[in-house]
Parts: sequence; structure tokens; C-alpha cells
Amino acid sequence: MLLSGLLQFLGRSLQLNSSLSFFYISFLFQYNIEPCPECGNMKLKHTLCGFCFEKVRKETAMIRKQISIMDGGPLNAPAVESVVLYENENPSEADKDKRIIERNRKRPYWFNM
Ligand SMILES: [Zn+2]
Repeated sequence: MLLSGLLQFLGRSLQLNSSLSFFYISFLFQYNIEPCPECGNMKLKHTLCGFCFEKVRKETAMIRKQISIMDGGPLNAPAVESVVLYENENPSEADKDKRIIERNRKRPYWFNM
């Protein structure tokens, strides 16, 4: 998946600027840079993409907000452990006693990082 995305990206940049592509490719390999699977911007491997960082912040804020609504206000500390489920996900056996927070979107790739 990631490799084919990288090849696609390299193919595009080859077409766009063939004279720079050699340096660009060496740059990518030298610094372990790959296109972000979420937004396509270049990011360091095994790190969270900077462009997605803002999205992560917003998503966590949304989840916190959702929890505070379920708790009846931001002052109430959550009594039970919460598990966040994304679209098409079902709670596992271990999660059945936890509070389920459902998000009606697909799980972002960075959510388990
Ligand atoms: Zn990204």
C-alpha cells in the first residue's frame, strides 16, 4: 500500500520535473520520507504527519466533547474506561464493559499511534 503510493508519487514527480527527480528520489530515501497515507503530504517514516497533527487534535477534542456530553458535563470525571469505535467496528469481548464512544467516520490511520 505505502510502497505503491510512494511509486505513484514518484511517478508524478518524474513527470512534473524530470531533472530534479533524481535528487528528489535520493532525498526521499536518505531521510526516510514517505507520503502520508491520510493526506498525501510528505512525512518522516514512523512519525505522525505534521499536516495531520491538527486533525488529530480536532479528533481528540471531538471525542472529549462527546465524552463530556455523555457524562452530562465537563466537570464529571469519567467513571468507566472508554473505547472509541469507528465506522464498521464492533466492540470486542474485552470492551463490552467499557463505555462505547461511536464516531461515524472511518478510523484514521494515526489513531492507534
Ligand atoms: Zn497527513
